[in-house]
Amino acid sequence: MSKLHITTYPSPILREGSKPIPISELPKYKNLIKEMVSFMKEKDGLGLAAPQIGQNIQLAIVSTNDGAIALINPKIIKKSWKKENGEEGCLSLPSIFGMVKRHSKISVLTFSQAGKEITFTAKGLFARVIQHEIDHLNGILFIDRTKKITQGKDELEKLEKDVKNKK
Ligand code: ZN
Repeated sequence: MSKLHITTYPSPILREGSKPIPISELPKYKNLIKEMVSFMKEKDGLGLAAPQIGQNIQLAIVSTNDGAIALINPKIIKKSWKKENGEEGCLSLPSIFGMVKRHSKISVLTFSQAGKEITFTAKGLFARVIQHEIDHLNGILFIDRTKKITQGKDELEKLEKDVKNKK
C-alpha cells in the first residue's frame, strides 16, 4: 500500500496553480514519481497529477500502452481544431462522471526525468488524459468543463453546496 493519499474535491489544493519544478532539482523527485506511478495503478487511474496527492508542483503521471510516463512542467504547444466528446472521471471526484470536449490531437512539450526537453504528439484517449492532467496543474477540474454530468449528479450537488456554505 502506498503512503500517498488522494486529495478530493472541494479541497482548495485542487484549485491552486502548480509551480514548475526547477530542472536542477529533478533528482529529488525520482522517488515521488515512482510512488505516484504505483499509487495510480493501485487506484486504477489513467492519470494522476501532483495536486491530487496534495502537492502543487507541475508533475503528472499518465498511463500509456507501454507503461506510465511522467510529465514534468508540461505544456500543450499545439492542439487540433477538432474536438471529441468523451466521458471522464477523476480520482479526486469519486463516483462522478461527465462528458467533456477535448482536442483530439495535441503536441506536448515536457521534460524527461533526466531533465531533457521532449516533445511528442498524442491523440484520442491519451490526448484526453494529458489535457485532464494539465488542467489539474492549472487548478481546473473536469466538472468546470463538462456540459453534462452522466453519473453522480447528486453527490456533486451536495459537494458544491458544501463549498458555498464554507464561503
Ligand atoms: Zn483528475
